[in-house]
Amino acid sequence: MRAPTSITRAEGERRASCEECLVSGADGVILRICASCGHIGCAEGSRGDHAAQHYAETDHPIAVLIGSEGASSWSYPDRRTI
Ligand SMILES: [Zn+2]
Ligand SMILES: [Zn+2]
Repeated sequence: MRAPTSITRAEGERRASCEECLVSGADGVILRICASCGHIGCAEGSRGDHAAQHYAETDHPIAVLIGSEGASSWSYPDRRTI
């Protein structure tokens, strides 16, 4: 378990899409924005599941889901919407 050390790295570097998926050419996935640092990653159901990967790497517990039905907050430790 590591402490987050590169919070400012997210600024200007991320756009409103999952960067990892853009590289691999995927698009139209559900996105989650990390409430702790602003990292944008794709939610489960996508090929990469980079939002969950971000949680595993940083231990940032809350991510805001951006879906067609509006935004909702997901808690990874609780594995449910909060
Ligand atoms: Zn992704
Ligand atoms: Zn984060």
